[in-house]
Amino acid sequence: MAGKVILVGAGPGDPGLLTVRGRQALEGAEVVVYDRLAGPAVLALIPRTARGIDVGKAAACHPVPQEQINRILVEEARAGRQVVRLKGGDPFVFGRGGEEAEALKRAGVAFEVVPGVTSAVAAPACAGIPVTHRDYSSSLHILTGHARRGGALSIDFDALVRCGGTLVFLMGLVALPRIVGGLLEAGMDPQTPAALVENGTLPSQRCCRAPLASLAERAAELDIHSPALILVGPVCALSLDGQPPLRGKRILVTRPRGRSGPLSERLRALGAEVAELPLIETVPIRPCPAMEAALAGLSAYEWLALTSPAGVEALWTCLRDMGRDARQLGGVKLASIGPGTARALEDRGLVSDLIPAVYDAAHLGEALAERAAGRVLLLRAEAGSPALPEALARRGVPYEDVPVYRTRCALAHSRRLRRALEAGEIDFVTLTSASTVRALLAAAGPEADFSKTLGLCIGPQTAAEARKYGIPVRVAAEATVDALAELAVESHAFS
Ligand code: SAH
Repeated sequence: MAGKVILVGAGPGDPGLLTVRGRQALEGAEVVVYDRLAGPAVLALIPRTARGIDVGKAAACHPVPQEQINRILVEEARAGRQVVRLKGGDPFVFGRGGEEAEALKRAGVAFEVVPGVTSAVAAPACAGIPVTHRDYSSSLHILTGHARRGGALSIDFDALVRCGGTLVFLMGLVALPRIVGGLLEAGMDPQTPAALVENGTLPSQRCCRAPLASLAERAAELDIHSPALILVGPVCALSLDGQPPLRGKRILVTRPRGRSGPLSERLRALGAEVAELPLIETVPIRPCPAMEAALAGLSAYEWLALTSPAGVEALWTCLRDMGRDARQLGGVKLASIGPGTARALEDRGLVSDLIPAVYDAAHLGEALAERAAGRVLLLRAEAGSPALPEALARRGVPYEDVPVYRTRCALAHSRRLRRALEAGEIDFVTLTSASTVRALLAAAGPEADFSKTLGLCIGPQTAAEARKYGIPVRVAAEATVDALAELAVESHAFS
């Protein structure tokens, strides 16, 4: 296949603001040429199979020269590769995307442009400032505050003041005092509302508002850093942010690889900064003669009970190994511990006959005991909660408890995790099973400091395990992803 370069606008930093087409381009990339402006959450979407080339090294102190970036793009495409050039915001709003496109055109290299959400509009919006408003401003001017060689700003301040529109300066932090001075000299009212937005759309976003005349002073007081933009105009008096409820919270999601998606997405949608750290992994026991025997003689059972999506997966692995499929389960009633497990069955075309009102092992056991007239087959983790078989035994229900998968620690001791806990960089950690709690302890080490971190627990058993090790906890109202996200919001509100 012939090589090609796609100039992709990465948006202002929030990965939710990367366009669908941009994401598709990233997923198909063999080489991704990026700089830091794209933001860590968007950079995390670069597929593992793609080679990443960082051309924005060392916080723009020694960036790779533009000519060299152009050369890299041309060379990679000529070598027949699918290249994505990921650029913060929109590729053609400053940031030299136009020059890159010209170089590609000159070199006869095929290229495409995927527009992006520019920070010039999105960062103010997330700070509650609409860049235009019928009552306040009828034009929008996006300018660069970056001085060309020689140091002079090429800004016509008189024209800007005459227009009376909203002004957005990108790359203007260094020149902030000169920009303010220029506007005041050209006759702008010193009381004109103005604002700075730092890390717009990211969990670390900060916004400061001040009258134009004191904006530079405020910026210095708050130690505002790049990337930040300057906004000037009456719209800066507005504050219309529907701030997401978890903005600014840093949450560690510890679910097994491949299962953290829905929870992380939910938390991110609520504004949290999410780091994923799979602490445990589940491994089907394979071969599993006990499960094979039970499945071959399934007519001896009235109920088949599953306690996690991992159990469903192990069941399917076994059926496949036996050369069978879902029809093998035709005659048996199906019980799922909760909606996640039920969904895993539904994905395979099977509807659960029973989900207990409370999604835990004890309640599943009680609910089964109430209904079962015949034998119950439990397919679950090797070290599953004793509450389930105990409930059945108490009521004299015959059952077979077959371990079909194991959980094991996925992470060795991590000094980085320990330091992050110590530094208070993790506000919440999600805990979805007792084994996750033990794996967290193993990874963070016995002396880890949990005093600045709250454990958000899926249920009371998990919470009990966490309390044993002195981790402060709160417990979700029910064992679902939604309830866990809800718990994060409540905990944030009260913290
Ligand atoms: N093409 C980009 C702009 C590149 S110039 C876009 O469309 O957004 C880089 C400047 O953009 C930074 O110096 C800063 O002024 C601004 N910027 C980029 N991302 C930002 C963010 N998340 N918050 C505030 N300003 C940002």
